[in-house]
Amino acid sequence: MAEFTMELNEDQRGVRDWIHGFAAEVMRPAAAEWDEREEFPWPVVQEAARIGLYSLDFYAQQFFDPTGLGIPMAMEELFWGDAGLGLAITGTGLAAIGVLTNGTEEQIGTWLPQMYGDAADVKIAAFCSSEPDAGSDVSAMRTRAVYDEAKDEWVLNGTKTWATNGGIANVHVVVAVVDPELGARGHASFIVPPGTPGLSQGQKFKKHGIRASHTAEVVLDGVRLPGHCLLGGKDKLDERLARARERARTGGARTQNAAMATFEASRPTVGAQAVGIARAAYEVALDYAQTRVQFGRPVIDNQGVAFQLADMRTRIDAARLLVWRASWMATAGKPFTSAEGSMSKLFAGETAKAVTAQAMQILGGNGYTREYPVERMHRDAAIYTIFEGTSEIQRLVIARTISDVPIR
Ligand SMILES: Cc1cc2nc3c(=O)[nH]c(=O)nc-3n(C[C@H](O)[C@H](O)[C@H](O)COP(=O)(O)OP(=O)(O)OC[C@H]3O[C@@H](n4cnc5c(N)ncnc54)[C@H](O)[C@@H]3O)c2cc1C
Repeated sequence: MAEFTMELNEDQRGVRDWIHGFAAEVMRPAAAEWDEREEFPWPVVQEAARIGLYSLDFYAQQFFDPTGLGIPMAMEELFWGDAGLGLAITGTGLAAIGVLTNGTEEQIGTWLPQMYGDAADVKIAAFCSSEPDAGSDVSAMRTRAVYDEAKDEWVLNGTKTWATNGGIANVHVVVAVVDPELGARGHASFIVPPGTPGLSQGQKFKKHGIRASHTAEVVLDGVRLPGHCLLGGKDKLDERLARARERARTGGARTQNAAMATFEASRPTVGAQAVGIARAAYEVALDYAQTRVQFGRPVIDNQGVAFQLADMRTRIDAARLLVWRASWMATAGKPFTSAEGSMSKLFAGETAKAVTAQAMQILGGNGYTREYPVERMHRDAAIYTIFEGTSEIQRLVIARTISDVPIR
């Protein structure tokens, strides 16, 4: 008989505690400094690589954990440490998932190791889908990939924006339009290998939060790529485009495009990051409320404060359960019939934003200063209702999935 448990097994607890140690001892003491510097924290990522935490092997091990909880558990602990540093350590994962979801075995074997490098020579990767006029509306994408059959090369032109690690990555995964007639179904993903001429970093953004994470435009100016850089290969693309053209002609059912498949696979992972930030802020607030004395008693003695903490903790646990369910479903191959991945990201993102705001309130004036970490956590949390699909887009996905109505 199948056994049901909601406890992590011994191996998982060991990994969680190991990551927690790194988060507490390496990330937390460095968090405020890198937030102020607003630069990519190479020494922290290098230290994570040195102990094997930033490595393809580690992510592969967690990714293939049969319970599905390896990745969310790791994410929660890292982002409990710090979100900006956490994103610097995990940002490569989005590009890696892009290759895992769309690439051939040979492409996975060639490019994933080059995305991470090794402890002696750490590398990072970037996933570039968003454009200045194509954020939530992926179908408005303009970056064009044109096939030069004589040379078996693809030529890419366009501007990508908001790319995490964009321009400083060793490997860029770029989504581009191969057939403009097909909208989002006419897209394909490409590997841009290290040092490819024509790819450059545009503006680097100064941000409200997650400031240790590098976010920039990526300009593609006549970038020529060998045919083997098309993820999935030309035959598979031709078959997919032929099916999409047939569907467009006959009005058949829609299917996910490459970029959407990548986002869908990573939503519970992003939700787990938000849970980590929320938990960190809640812990600071709980501790503060027990020690801060006003009117002759700790402020937690007031129901007005204690009930807020009760709500915060309840929301965090509920968010984690949604994240774990979605991660388990993905690993078990269960269909997301109610958009459970989007649900988990929606609820966890909103929870992080709300809980960090409550934590700031509980810390009063101290919460508003950079003497305490909740101010940074609140700034960091704000991105979790925006990137990887805004909260509105998650609601749209859920509403369409549960109703089968093409709600706008
Ligand atoms: C720090 C950071 C890192 C990022 N990293 C990456 C990355 O690595 N790779 C990448 O490709 N992208 C990345 N992004 C882009 C991110 O995914 C987009 O910002 C996000 O998808 C929203 O797009 P947008 O900013 O253009 O907002 P818009 O799409 O312009 O939306 C504006 C507002 O309108 C709402 N809205 C839009 N359409 C609808 C609708 N149909 N119904 C209801 N409301 C709607 C939105 O919810 C939002 O509130 C990153 C962004 C940031 C800020």
